[in-house]
Amino acid sequence: MLLKGKTAVISGGAGRRGIGFATAKLFVEHGARVAILDIDAKAAAEAAADLGTGHLGIACDVSNAAACKAAADEVISAFGHVDILLNNAGITQPVKTMEITEADWHRILAVNTTGVLFLSQAFIPHMRSRKAGSIACMSSVSAQRGGGIFGGPHYSAAKAGVLGLAKAMARELGPDGIRVNCVTPGLIQTDITGDKLTPAMKAEIAAGIPLGRLGEARDVAGAYLFLASDLSAYITGAVIDVNGGMLIH
Ligand code: NAD
Repeated sequence: MLLKGKTAVISGGAGRRGIGFATAKLFVEHGARVAILDIDAKAAAEAAADLGTGHLGIACDVSNAAACKAAADEVISAFGHVDILLNNAGITQPVKTMEITEADWHRILAVNTTGVLFLSQAFIPHMRSRKAGSIACMSSVSAQRGGGIFGGPHYSAAKAGVLGLAKAMARELGPDGIRVNCVTPGLIQTDITGDKLTPAMKAEIAAGIPLGRLGEARDVAGAYLFLASDLSAYITGAVIDVNGGMLIH
């Protein structure tokens, strides 16, 4: 029980096959109360109910600062305190540089990068007041290797932005007892790719992975658990690769 008595907020946790929901289940197994925030209100409520009693499912568009603040107020008032924030929500799009429209660029940056800032800003005052907190942010191997997996250059840019933002927050918030880290998964089998990733594409990617398989949502959940728990008490500003060795650097 690594999270006994702790409370966690997970954005983008409503998708049943997603990384956020797999993490929520693992956190509950380890004794945490969890609030799932997702743009899909109904799915968030249903996901929270599936976790058992005492958990929350709240509608929140992480690219909207007011929505993040309202969600934070609701969770803090229900739980009394929040120990862990996972900035996990994200969207992707498989297009090439010249195909990225102005709207696509702003949409991908708004959810993947701006959302990390807005949701963190909503919880930082509370964490600061308690002199404690662990924030983990979702980046991607796409940020490190310049895409080439599924998302386009705007997705790589957005996820690279997360790395810089998280490291800067780690530096700034360390004196307040707040740790900020990132995970950089390789290709994880969830619904984010829709039906656009063919079996042939998956086989080609798996052939380049030393551990010989694509990732599962629970693979990333384990890294999130480590970063959320006190096992990582002296780790901040770090980036944990969860990619089967796809990018050894
Ligand atoms: P997923 O589609 O199951 O999860 C994304 C979740 O974010 C969904 O529940 C969706 O409803 C939610 N969401 C979308 N826009 C939102 C918004 N504006 N506000 C709040 N919630 C919003 O897919 P996943 O693969 O579990 O993705 C989780 C995270 O992992 C994403 O940030 C993704 O970019 C990242 N990631 C995924 C992979 C992969 O291969 N699957 C690899 C690296 C990083």
